Amino acid sequence: MSANQMDAGVPAVGQASTPDSETSVTVEHLTVRFDEFVAVDDVSLLMLKGQVHFLIGPNGAGKTTLVDALTGLVPATGTAMYNGLDLIATKTNKIIRAGIGRTFQTATVFDELSVLQNLDIAGGVHRSAWRLPLVRRGVPEYVERALETIGLTAHRDKLAGTLAHGQKQWLEIGMLLVQDAQVMFLDEPVAGMNADERDETGQLLRRIGDERTIIVIEHDMDFVRNYAEWVTVMHSGKLLTAGTVEQVHADKRVQEVYLGTVADAAAEAAADEEGGDL
Ligand code: ADP
Ligand code: MG
Repeated sequence: MSANQMDAGVPAVGQASTPDSETSVTVEHLTVRFDEFVAVDDVSLLMLKGQVHFLIGPNGAGKTTLVDALTGLVPATGTAMYNGLDLIATKTNKIIRAGIGRTFQTATVFDELSVLQNLDIAGGVHRSAWRLPLVRRGVPEYVERALETIGLTAHRDKLAGTLAHGQKQWLEIGMLLVQDAQVMFLDEPVAGMNADERDETGQLLRRIGDERTIIVIEHDMDFVRNYAEWVTVMHSGKLLTAGTVEQVHADKRVQEVYLGTVADAAAEAAADEEGGDL
């Protein structure tokens, strides 16, 4: 570590500041290889409970692959402990049942089913197979609650395929709520959303983040600045740093490797808004 870095209180590359809140997933030495290529390279990080935690980094940094590894979709080495369970050594179904949920960069709702039916199917994760379908049991309270949280109560009978882009993303989050996911990985949830939808999503994340661990993969720096309570930065498969928005913003390395690569987009955003590079 250089004297400069020490003065600024900046941890060395690969080290994170220690967050001052409860952690729920402890990732240590996570590595994912695709043949010779190391997509996630010895990453250690803490995932926090009760705070909206953003995972950022340039395209190809390894963010989605890291989440794939934590949800049993790609083989990895290292450990990721959650409630005594090592997610790296656990199959996807069991990971979901343990209360870990995720969304994907492309929406995965069933377009030809209603909002309610989508939620019912998702809720089935914790329901025995022989139980009655939703239409015959009435709408359970936890589904009502999820509908309200995601703001789709008035749209519950609409086909998911007819929802606006933002509403579809919220439905996906609702599907994680009815699964009772305590840890949610959301992969670029506001991509393609307009400004109002982004803000509504940010508010939604805050509402659901109070009791849960929410990890948001994100590119939009305005969104990160407005809604992140904790930020982890990846670059070329490695953990670059982690900290509050202010700490990460002040980190020269982040400006170089991350903001440098999106300088044009950041400049555009800054032209629209005050000050705005992160
Ligand atoms: P991010 O989500 O940060 O944009 P990804 O995790 O999608 O990045 O990808 C990280 C790197 O791993 C990229 O270089 C990508 O091309 C590579 N990669 C991702 N999935 C595979 C795969 N299944 N096989 C080979 N390389 C992959
Ligand atoms: Mg990705």
